[in-house]
Amino acid sequence: MSRYIVKLDKKKLMDEAGGRCSICGLAIALQHAHIVPFRICRKSTFEELIILCSNCHGGIIDGWKIQEFAPELLYAFKIRPRAIREKYVDNDPNSLLEEFQYISTRGIYKQNKLENFLLSIATSSSLLSNPNLVARTALCWATIAKQRGKTHPSKYLAKILLQTFKKLNDYGNMIATNQLYAGSLFIERSFDKALDIYLKNEQMVKNLSKVSQKTRNKFLIDIYRDQGITYAFLGNSNKAFELTLESEQLAEKLNDKRCYALALQNEGMIHLTTKRIEKSMESLEKVSRFIPKDEIIGSVMLFNYLGALYLIAGDKEKKNQMAKKAICWSKQYGFYNELNIANKIKKSEESGIE
Ligand SMILES: [Zn+2]
Repeated sequence: MSRYIVKLDKKKLMDEAGGRCSICGLAIALQHAHIVPFRICRKSTFEELIILCSNCHGGIIDGWKIQEFAPELLYAFKIRPRAIREKYVDNDPNSLLEEFQYISTRGIYKQNKLENFLLSIATSSSLLSNPNLVARTALCWATIAKQRGKTHPSKYLAKILLQTFKKLNDYGNMIATNQLYAGSLFIERSFDKALDIYLKNEQMVKNLSKVSQKTRNKFLIDIYRDQGITYAFLGNSNKAFELTLESEQLAEKLNDKRCYALALQNEGMIHLTTKRIEKSMESLEKVSRFIPKDEIIGSVMLFNYLGALYLIAGDKEKKNQMAKKAICWSKQYGFYNELNIANKIKKSEESGIE
């Protein structure tokens, strides 16, 4: 094992980063940095490395040692380096919005990063003059509010957006908004109301005209997955499994690893609600292998599920390890709902979570 990096990889890495620091965009004092510290990963291949300036490589960002806590975030910077993010901003409001959708659905944000990003949106006049793009921007905000456990603003925004998208005949985003509204109800534990919307949304997707089967399936992956976990909380585990498996199969068919991992995560969770500990452990450990490195909110939820699982299994050390990770990440990103759950898991000494 060595720290030696082959010439070809060096060029490839520099090209990937657009010749600039992947985090801050500075073009001087560039270095090869390990996403996971070398003493742990013991490898120096293209996959393990990222281009950073010496300042960012110092490892402290906003008082936060990035390589220790969140290699996943560093990985997100690797696949979307600053040079590319700026290109989006300069050229095309659609791409700018795509970027916002990407970071909001996966939970890749911290307050000051978000503020900088919004500055780009606020100064993009071509975005602000297009009502559809403005509404979709607001939908990203509502998603972030939901992930932070602030269901009141997310529901409020969703209600307004449903009217807007209806006026614009944008059925795809009406469906996305409905999912968000129902997801907020789910967090509030209004499972009946949430299920009602998920079922209506399924009908809406099936009635969409002029849409390919592939697009239809993309919506159905999310809808079946959400229906499944809601049935689990309503005590119908047969229906819950049936729908979750359907979501997994669709994800496999579309080769969507992220959605596959999220459905698999729900499968483990449903096993947990029915106290099938070993089955649950099997599913959740499989998720760790499939979940994409840039899926932040999903990863935090996984730590909590594993924490709850180790709690029931009586493995105190692993339970605390998971809770600690979930607490650390939740604080960094402001996932208050997940933070509450993690704190409960940390304090509990025996089974008794949900
Ligand atoms: Zn930098």
